[in-house]
Amino acid sequence: MKYIKNFVLLFAVATLLLSCNSGNERVVELLIPQPAKTIIKSGRFTHDTPVVYFSNVSDSDKENLLELIKGVFPSATETLDSTESGVIRVKQLPYSNNATESYDLCVSRSSIDIEARTPAGLIYAIQTIAQLNYLSTRGVPCVIISDAPRFAYRGIHLDVSRHFYSVEFIKKQLDVMSFYKMNRFHWHLTDGAGWRIEIKKYPRLTTFAAWRPYNNWKEFWFGERLYCEQTDAKAKGGYYTQEDVKEIVAYAQKLNITVIPEIEMPGHSDEVLAAYPELSCKGKPYTSGEMCIGNEATYKFLTDVLSEVCELFPSEYIHIGGDEADHKNWKECAKCQGTIRAKGLKNEHELQSYLIQRIENFLSTKGKKLIGWDEIIEGGLSPYATVMAWRGEAGGIKAAQMGHDAIMTPGNWLYFDAYQDNPATEPEAIGGYLPLSRVYSYEPVPDSLSLEEKSHIIGVQANLWTEYIQTEEHVEYMLYPRVLALAELGWCMADAKDWERFLPAANRHLEILKDKGINAHQISNSVIAEEVVDVEKQKIELSFRCDKMPVDIRYTNDGSEPTIESELYNAPISIKDSAIIKVAIFQNDERITEVQTFTPLYHKAIGKKVSYNIPHCSHYVAKGEATLTDGYNGGASYGDGSWQGFNKDVDVVLDMGEVTPIREIEVNFMQQAGPWIWFPEYVDIYMSEDGETWRNVKHISNDVPRDTEGMLIKNFGFAGEERCRYIRYTAHQLPKEGAYMFIDEIKVK
Ligand SMILES: [Zn+2]
Repeated sequence: MKYIKNFVLLFAVATLLLSCNSGNERVVELLIPQPAKTIIKSGRFTHDTPVVYFSNVSDSDKENLLELIKGVFPSATETLDSTESGVIRVKQLPYSNNATESYDLCVSRSSIDIEARTPAGLIYAIQTIAQLNYLSTRGVPCVIISDAPRFAYRGIHLDVSRHFYSVEFIKKQLDVMSFYKMNRFHWHLTDGAGWRIEIKKYPRLTTFAAWRPYNNWKEFWFGERLYCEQTDAKAKGGYYTQEDVKEIVAYAQKLNITVIPEIEMPGHSDEVLAAYPELSCKGKPYTSGEMCIGNEATYKFLTDVLSEVCELFPSEYIHIGGDEADHKNWKECAKCQGTIRAKGLKNEHELQSYLIQRIENFLSTKGKKLIGWDEIIEGGLSPYATVMAWRGEAGGIKAAQMGHDAIMTPGNWLYFDAYQDNPATEPEAIGGYLPLSRVYSYEPVPDSLSLEEKSHIIGVQANLWTEYIQTEEHVEYMLYPRVLALAELGWCMADAKDWERFLPAANRHLEILKDKGINAHQISNSVIAEEVVDVEKQKIELSFRCDKMPVDIRYTNDGSEPTIESELYNAPISIKDSAIIKVAIFQNDERITEVQTFTPLYHKAIGKKVSYNIPHCSHYVAKGEATLTDGYNGGASYGDGSWQGFNKDVDVVLDMGEVTPIREIEVNFMQQAGPWIWFPEYVDIYMSEDGETWRNVKHISNDVPRDTEGMLIKNFGFAGEERCRYIRYTAHQLPKEGAYMFIDEIKVK
């Protein structure tokens, strides 16, 4: 707020003398991504029919920029008089290498000035004006903005192989991407589920490999995974003609978006090998998803395809996939093994790397650079290749340490095919849980890197794989509003990110997205409760929030249903021992949600010492020895820091400090068959006054089968009238290497 840019120095000094306009400030805070530097002024630019004056802008850029301005002011026209009232002055300054997307914007009552060193910067200045105009009820708020992105690469990936989407749909998404200052569209054009780009030399790729005799991917995948002729009555799928591709690339260019094509190799190529089986190790269709690397015909195919691709896409980068290749066929193939011997390669990793390097050499003859998924570093790689880290951050870290540029797209934060709300109420997704807040919390540059290595992290990208996403409406549902968070990850400096500022803005942008005809997921209006346990003061501070805005949270603590008369929540509630709190959301004096009940409990064992006769496991330590009596319950994820894992029996002793009356002990276990987390076989609970003489007060056998689906939580506890100082809690699990038990708390009442 206090930064003053030279070119507007005089102007800014003048405006500092004026009082700040809080209405304008609120509008500017709603910009996504939030600009780097802003000075709020009073007043609005309210000219509905502005004129546009260009200075030092090429004719072709002029046409494009005027069209974008007309998107904001439909009746704008060009003028040759820079002093006209209601003028928008668009000025391109001499090019500078380190300001390729930055811009300056100054809005006053009578004029708007935008300056940048590239057409890209001018485009972003106009997008900022467009947002300001959308966000304000009347006119464009007067403001001075000096803005630049944190990362050069800000991308969205879309898989069009699993399901095919129309040209018009892609263009619609490009419009929204540019509105949020995203500049790379990674177009996943080929995969085992279908080939989607016309290649003149290989017509079978689009008359056959682009079509499936199934209604959707699920039927294909869980069926026989066949392709069919385009003319087949059952054929579903599609492809982009080279004319379609040119249209999309040109459209994107006008929005400062580079389209990066991905042509998968050598794996994820089942569809290619069904159409051209001679490129597989066995020479027969439906025998492999991996191309034969020992066959020169494979290189001929790939370089032919890439030659056409390089012609179509001006992008410096070409993505070649390189992920998840199965080595099985290569191991059994005489040609592949022959290449390993002839080239002195160590193994199949190096065989894959041999192919990638040949392809990279080929691409460099076309003036292109190679990007691949993080597997491409496994067998060695030339320093010019860029790595896209998807299996967590490790691939990106390793790449940066080896001197490669890397783009962060880790699954746990940026795979938008995961659920963004309760799976029970959401359309089917592939799995995982990635709410808006988690996307927003991601920091793309790992602390562990040196300054030099950090400079190799050139950006972020969200990936949308579409196995379960059959319709275009559903694609939008998965992308938005998470794209809003992604936009700030790519554009804003780490310390400029602010969830408290961002969340109201995201709520407001959901309305804008709706105006743009986007079918966004709506932010949940359920109440999220958070407890802070204060061991010193022996109380719990219970706070509520709701990500949907604006709403009122009202609550009761007498068991009654909240009404419009109930207490309005505005500060954390203190709870000494236990309470029953009922909450609901109100909007315009009406209850708009079901009543939610929370039962915070400051139980007797909080802060008491736990000792371990058998240690907990070393991976899921949670908060160490404090975990089981810290007052915090675990949530739906065993890795959330409240659940403690045991890979041997549980055997712990709890010291209450003095002989204490006990009515109930509650110990919840988690079961989740997928990662081998199971309930105990049986539990024994013992009590003692002196820690030496023990009596068994409870034996519980488990009756829940291990293969029960979903995530289960079950109490293996005790109820009765007892007194003791020490409680020994033991749980036994059938020995099985790699199996776990998880508990979060030993609650004593
Ligand atoms: Zn082979």
